[in-house]
Amino acid sequence: MADAKPLYDTYNRVPIVFERGHGVWLETPTGERYLDFAAGIAVNSLGHTHPHLVEALKDQADKLWHLSNVHEIPGQTRLAERLTRATFADKVFFTNSGAEALECAIKTARRHFHVNGQPERYRIITMEGAFHGRTLATIAAGGQAKYLEGFGPKVEGFDQVPFGDREAMKAAVTEETAAILVEPVQGEGGVRPLPKEFMRFLRDLCDEHGLLLILDEVQCGVGRTGKLFAHEWAGIEPDLMAVAKGIGGGFPFGACLATAEAADGMTVGTHGTTYGGNPLAMAVGNAVLDVILEDGFLAHVNDIALVLNQGLASLKDRYPTLIEDVRGSGLMLGIKCAKSNADLVMAMRNEHLLSVPAGDNVVRLLPPLILTAEEARDALSRIEAALDMLSRKDT
Ligand SMILES: *Cc1c(COP(=O)(O)O)cnc(C)c1O
Repeated sequence: MADAKPLYDTYNRVPIVFERGHGVWLETPTGERYLDFAAGIAVNSLGHTHPHLVEALKDQADKLWHLSNVHEIPGQTRLAERLTRATFADKVFFTNSGAEALECAIKTARRHFHVNGQPERYRIITMEGAFHGRTLATIAAGGQAKYLEGFGPKVEGFDQVPFGDREAMKAAVTEETAAILVEPVQGEGGVRPLPKEFMRFLRDLCDEHGLLLILDEVQCGVGRTGKLFAHEWAGIEPDLMAVAKGIGGGFPFGACLATAEAADGMTVGTHGTTYGGNPLAMAVGNAVLDVILEDGFLAHVNDIALVLNQGLASLKDRYPTLIEDVRGSGLMLGIKCAKSNADLVMAMRNEHLLSVPAGDNVVRLLPPLILTAEEARDALSRIEAALDMLSRKDT
């Protein structure tokens, strides 16, 4: 007999249906409102139905939806120009997702050495706790057993070292190493920021051995940490960077950013995508950048992050048996739980505040970047109510 459920069973879904969203709020069909501190896992960077994004998408929908990449797509050129002007990069390749942006970065790094007479250099060093996506290459890069199990031989060419371990990182570099790939702030791994000094160490190590530094800013990029990209806090620049999630504000797309040198192997015919960079995605991407690059936007992110951080620090002091640590950067915050993170996510949901569990027993708070101070205080009081409920349950 056929399974009654027509969808793959790959997701453990929350039993709440949302019908609409506005700003940082989600609404059920019966009008119940939830504060959305999950934001589609750092995707809805400008909240739900932001008027500027809605307008950009509707305008483009009336003109042209899709065009093959054999044609010039003006929105692509414009967005690439804006991204290269704002970052280290000289070149951009648009994708549909984060994993594809990583695939592009991995292929770009390998091709760079291939066309520069060192085809034996194809290996990439990654870090424990990493998450780079769910394609065959990106699960190999992430190296997490739970995502690799049962999917056949692991894609060759990834070497993993413990998180933030300098000596292990140095020891892992061989004649076959092409690149180092890390998230400046691990998301799924438990909101673990790499210290600035460690980011500089990685840049130096890459320079010393002629390696490419690849950053995965799919989750921590596009204003999330209070800089346009998280690596800016360390004052270093990568050679390649994968971006997605927040850059589309809810429209699915990603990008691989590269220096001209790193991308020198990506010549005509070496890579491609049907949908990547399509006019609808580019219209929304340009609209997202309009807002995030506006004067004062990132300052706002930092101001609100301070409000949340201070509130969380005080909750940590008051509930030491429940909160072990509060960490993160900007509006990418993690509550490291002393008890079960799943229980805190659930308790917060009962207070109509959505969050995301992460590794290392952490609850992730990833609100839309347009969060106001008032909404931040509203969230803090809901977190407090959840903690209060959990603490009473324990005694
Ligand atoms: C979500 C995520 C990815 C994968 O992005 P998809 O769009 O789901 O393919 C890769 N890296 C990081 C750091 C992520 O958070």
